[in-house]
Amino acid sequence: MYRTVYSPQGARINLDGREVVNMASNNYLGLASHPDVIQAAKAALDQYGVGPTASRNIVGNFPVHDELEKALAKFKEVEATLVFNCGVSANTGVIPFLVGKGDVIYSDALNHGSIIDGCRLSGAQVKVYHHKDMISLEERLKEPEEGKKLIVTDGVFSMDGDLAPLPQIADLAEKYGAMLMVDDAHGDGVMGPMGRGTVDHFGLRKRVFVETGSLSKAFGSAGGFVAGSKELIEALRPKARSFIFTASPMAPCLAAAALKVVEMISEDEAYVKKLWKNREYFANRITKLGLNIGTTVTPVIPVIVGDGALAQRMSEDLFEKGVFAQAIQFPMVPKNAARLRVILSAGHTREDLDLAADAIEESARAMGII
Ligand SMILES: *Cc1c(COP(=O)(O)O)cnc(C)c1O
Repeated sequence: MYRTVYSPQGARINLDGREVVNMASNNYLGLASHPDVIQAAKAALDQYGVGPTASRNIVGNFPVHDELEKALAKFKEVEATLVFNCGVSANTGVIPFLVGKGDVIYSDALNHGSIIDGCRLSGAQVKVYHHKDMISLEERLKEPEEGKKLIVTDGVFSMDGDLAPLPQIADLAEKYGAMLMVDDAHGDGVMGPMGRGTVDHFGLRKRVFVETGSLSKAFGSAGGFVAGSKELIEALRPKARSFIFTASPMAPCLAAAALKVVEMISEDEAYVKKLWKNREYFANRITKLGLNIGTTVTPVIPVIVGDGALAQRMSEDLFEKGVFAQAIQFPMVPKNAARLRVILSAGHTREDLDLAADAIEESARAMGII
C-alpha cells in the first residue's frame, strides 16, 4: 500500500509516523503550507464553504475563479486562461477541442499520461516521435496528411528533468503549419523569468499556440489550467467536456490558495531563486560523488542506478536514514534506467539538502554503486 503523510507538505514531513526529509513532492516553491496561503484558503472556506456542488457553467462559478484566471493570464503573459479542477482535466479537455477525426497529432514518446489520454479521446491520428528527436518529428511531419496538425510536448519532462527543444519544435511547427501545445506542469513556477515557465525560458511566447499547466505543483494547491488567446479560451469554455460535465470544479478554497501563490511569486522572485540555488547545490554534491543524474537541467534530479530492485532497496534504505526519495522503475522508465527521483524545493534548508546528500552517499557506497 501507499505510504501515508501525517503532516502538512513541506521540506520535512511525517511519513508513516516517521519524520523524513521530503525529496519526493512537487512542492517546488515550498508554498503548499505557507501561512499566508493557508490563510487565503481559510478565508475562502468561510466565505464560500467547501464544495462547489455544481459545474461552473451552472452555479459553481465563484469570483475567485475569475480572479485566478485573470491573475494567471497576467503571470503567464497570455491573453486569457481557463481553470480546470486538475491538469489531467485540462489536457483531456483541450486536446479533443483542438483536433478530432481526420486530424493528426505529433506527440513526444515521453509525454505525460494525461496528454496521451487527451490524444486518444480526440479521435485524431497520433504519430509518436522519438523523445526530443527533431529528425524523427520532421520525418512524421513530412508524411502527407489532410486535416489539422497539432504538435504536443511536455515543457519539462518529469522523469528525467530534461527540457523539450522548444525553439526547434516551434520552427518545425511553423514550417509544416502545425499548432504547438506545451504542457508545462513542471515548468510553471520553476523555469524562466519570474518562473513564468519553459516557453518564456526560451522566449517563445508568441510562437506557442496553447499551454496547459497544473496548480498542484509549484503553485502548492490543486487544479489545472489552459492558457492562450482570448479567442481560444472563449471558444474552449463551453466545449471542454472535462470542464462542463464536472460538478467538481476547482474548490473555491483551492482557487484562493492558488491565487495567493500567483500573487506572491509575481511580486517576489525570491522563491524561484531559492529553488534554483538549492538545485545547483544539490546537483553539484550528487555529481561530485560520481553518481549519474542523466540529462536533467531542472530541479527534478534522477539518481540513475540501473537495476529496479536496487533503486527500490536504496529508497527503503534512505527512508531508514530519514530521507524519502521515490524509486522509479520500468515501465515508468526503461528497464536499465531505474532511479531514485529527487525533487528539490525552495523550502529545503541547507541542512535538509546535506542530510539527503549524505544519506544518498552512504547508501550508494553500501550498495557498491560508487
Ligand atoms: C502532473 C502533471 C499533469 C497533471 O496535473 P494535475 O494537476 O496533477 O492533474 C499533467 N501534465 C504533466 C506533464 C504533469 O507532470
